Amino acid sequence: MRILKIQTLRGPNYWSIRRHKLIVMRLDLENLAETPSNQIPGFYEGLVEALPSLEGHYCSPGCRGGFLMRVREGTMMGHIVEHVALELQELAGMHVGFGRTRETATPGVYQVVIEYLNEEAGRYAGRAAVRLCQSIVDRGRYPKAELEQDIQDLKDFWRDASLGPSTEAIVKEAEKRGIPWMPLAARFLIQLGYGVNQKRMQATMTDKTGILGVELACDKEATKRILATNGVPVPRGTVINFLDDLEEAIEYVGGYPIVIKPLDGNHGRGITIDIRNWDEAEAGYDAARQVSRSIIVERYYVGRDHRVLVVDGKVVAVAERVPAHVVGDGKSTIAELVDETNKDPNRGEGHDNVLTKIELDRTSYQLLERQGYTVNSVPPKGQICYLRATANLSTGGIAVDRTDEIHPENVWLAQRVVKIIGLDIAGLDVVTTDISRPLREMDGVIVEVNAAPGFRMHVAPSVGTPRNVAGAVMDMLFPNEKPSRLPILSVTGTNGKTTTTRLLAHIYKQTGKVVGYTTTDGTYIGDFLVEAGDNTGPQSAHVILQDPTVEVAVLESARGGILRSGLGFDAANVGVVLNVAADHLGIGDIDTIEQLANLKSVVAEAVFPDGYAVLNADDHRVAAMAEKTKANIAYFTMNPDSELVRKHIQKGGVAAVYENGYLSIVKGDWTHRIERAENIPLTMGGKAPFMIANALAASLAAFVQNVSIEQIRSGLRTFRASVSQTPGRMNLFNLGKYHALVDYAHNPASYEAVGSFVRNWTSGQRIGIVGGPGDRRDEDFVILGKLAADIFDYIIVKEDDDTRGRPRGSAADLIIQGINQAKPNCRYESILDETQAINKGLDMAPDGSLVVILPESVSRAIRLIKVRGVQEEIQPQS
Ligand code: ATP
Ligand code: ATP
Ligand code: MG
Ligand code: MG
Repeated sequence: MRILKIQTLRGPNYWSIRRHKLIVMRLDLENLAETPSNQIPGFYEGLVEALPSLEGHYCSPGCRGGFLMRVREGTMMGHIVEHVALELQELAGMHVGFGRTRETATPGVYQVVIEYLNEEAGRYAGRAAVRLCQSIVDRGRYPKAELEQDIQDLKDFWRDASLGPSTEAIVKEAEKRGIPWMPLAARFLIQLGYGVNQKRMQATMTDKTGILGVELACDKEATKRILATNGVPVPRGTVINFLDDLEEAIEYVGGYPIVIKPLDGNHGRGITIDIRNWDEAEAGYDAARQVSRSIIVERYYVGRDHRVLVVDGKVVAVAERVPAHVVGDGKSTIAELVDETNKDPNRGEGHDNVLTKIELDRTSYQLLERQGYTVNSVPPKGQICYLRATANLSTGGIAVDRTDEIHPENVWLAQRVVKIIGLDIAGLDVVTTDISRPLREMDGVIVEVNAAPGFRMHVAPSVGTPRNVAGAVMDMLFPNEKPSRLPILSVTGTNGKTTTTRLLAHIYKQTGKVVGYTTTDGTYIGDFLVEAGDNTGPQSAHVILQDPTVEVAVLESARGGILRSGLGFDAANVGVVLNVAADHLGIGDIDTIEQLANLKSVVAEAVFPDGYAVLNADDHRVAAMAEKTKANIAYFTMNPDSELVRKHIQKGGVAAVYENGYLSIVKGDWTHRIERAENIPLTMGGKAPFMIANALAASLAAFVQNVSIEQIRSGLRTFRASVSQTPGRMNLFNLGKYHALVDYAHNPASYEAVGSFVRNWTSGQRIGIVGGPGDRRDEDFVILGKLAADIFDYIIVKEDDDTRGRPRGSAADLIIQGINQAKPNCRYESILDETQAINKGLDMAPDGSLVVILPESVSRAIRLIKVRGVQEEIQPQS
């Protein structure tokens, strides 16, 4: 077997609208192409031995063991690779269930599609599955050690990619509320929402978290001073820089017991509490010195440690943090008890799990000594032995939810404190013997205010009710259903995508909104180009969706991008499908026009149920997409008598129709005439029917988004773009006595489209200069010839400079074949060189004629025309 290609999909795609995270592996089975699994001796046994858990895969039989039954009875290797790749991820703790395997048009070559949670893990699982199956084919087995290594590697990918418990909680809550999110390219920033409605977070700081509040909270001494000034109970303490000052400081705080900690530390680093004598004080000073130059000396307050979380001015959760400890069982030593405790799968390294493993260090030994133990002592059953004095989760502590117990006065105090410091999200460290009594009564204190407090002790407390603190954050960022999204309008089709996208963006601009749009020409925001180039994939969509000024997104969604990585968003408000015609068939395993229609259908299907699929009623493949989408349907048609549209309107549907020379919106009994085609420059005086169709689609897409008829009309009337902006798209030049048209039509449907305009040219002769890229199929050239014979009075057949591997003259021969088939007495000549052909056509043009050029090089063709003294560029869009 050989992997030919691996693609990573990240949005709605050809295989699934709902499952966005898929790996597509193109797999050549090579010598296994003809061999189902039952014909490979020992394969079934080897597979079951390597991965007995495959028993859990139902597959088509629909019951446990279903998949293995298929393997025993005989199934193709691609299918087996799919299941193995899924199972490997499953064994590494990533729950994935979706897979598909299809043979391509190339015999023996399969597309294996597997779901992933982590991209790298998904790709790795695909490769590992091929390796595993090949090994069982060749040797009857896959070494256990290899398998273990694979699973370990997969686990590592998963762990390295994890977001951290706080961010994870926030992202999960966002998903629950349908708020889109994406990681940004730097500094662990997460974007919630799109465009102008976006919010940003980094851990538990938001883009509204004030820098002054954060700086103040990070300075423990300043925090205490401000709080003390405001009458808030804080530890009595002082800051020193030299050991010489320690004795005096201890006296100042009222003598032992004391606490020594670094001025700017966190996670309990360098802190020694409950210091009872000079030796301990000196040691504590040294420990704090490791972390910070300046050192805090404080009175030690007896009590339990609490974390009070305040979000948007309200206390949303309270947790008591109990320092790392073990409980004696009467048999095991303390060291053994620690080992046992650390086996808890909830305990990880650092912050990457619900709890953190306990490490024994200097403080642990000291503490144990105080309690009369060493690590080798065996404490009696039920005896609690503390291994840390401070309760930070990151040093092995646990959390007990106390949200329902906190006294109202303490709630008031906590909320007031956070206001004084100036934070939208803060965690207060409160030491008191009983949080359900007022702090003042208990001689409790607020030890510290934390900016960016961790959420894990509230989301996953070791004891008590988990609290949805991320929900409070979302309520703050997106209050009262404040929109997080932008209207997204996505446009696809074989021809006319860019034109329609531009027009739709232009119409939407009439509302005064900032429109971001992407096309094959480039990415634009408002009137400005962000980046030139073919920007129809998901990355370009992200440029628009991440831009903080954009209010509406109009996205050209081309086949290449959808195939390569899926759509760049989860669902649109409007999905426009213009047409489906033969083009690019045979590329990317899209071999038939039906497959192409299925691909384009992704745009119609990835629409919210309350949004609209705008579909071409005149193209049966597009109209049929109505069956597949859950969205509302809006049809556009050039045919006022369309039966489909009539029925649709009768049922209360909306449509855009070209009737009596007008572009109109029809809804119920109403026909809103938007504008005469003649008055819409894009339609070239109403002579270019396909442009009318594009304009109908754009108008309808805007209409279903509640853009007013007046705004649509003014958009249609004023849509202008120069040749320099849209070279090769129906560029019409007035040369005084005659006209010339340049268009980069490159498939039969677009030749036909250009033809529909040319046929409307009645003032004189129609001369065509035609040819096409050499990598098209033979039949395409013949069709081009036939169409040309049908459209033009005189034809000059030329070829591209770059024949793309075709022998010179062969494309021209095929075109001439087509011409003769369609109209044996048609007038034509063959001039293979494009420049000569164009010059000949322009030289011979009689008065009132139209010379139509379908060039390889649009810029050269335009140059050749312009040197003849263009009087006026009559753009469809000018
Ligand atoms: P984190 O940022 O993880 O909360 P930190 O390193 O910033 O920790 P503090 O919050 O100042 O340090 O102290 C850690 C813990 O030590 C407190 O939560 C509290 O349990 C205990 N502690 C600190 N100062 C005192 C004090 N004066 N009296 C009693 N206990 C204290
Ligand atoms: P690409 O795939 O190159 O990005 P596109 O779909 O974006 O193409 P446009 O750039 O808008 O299409 O138009 C390219 C050409 O396609 C036009 O110049 C015209 O010849 C033809 N065309 C435009 N609209 C239609 C249509 N609705 N039906 C058929 N042909 C069309
Ligand atoms: Mg603290
Ligand atoms: Mg385009």
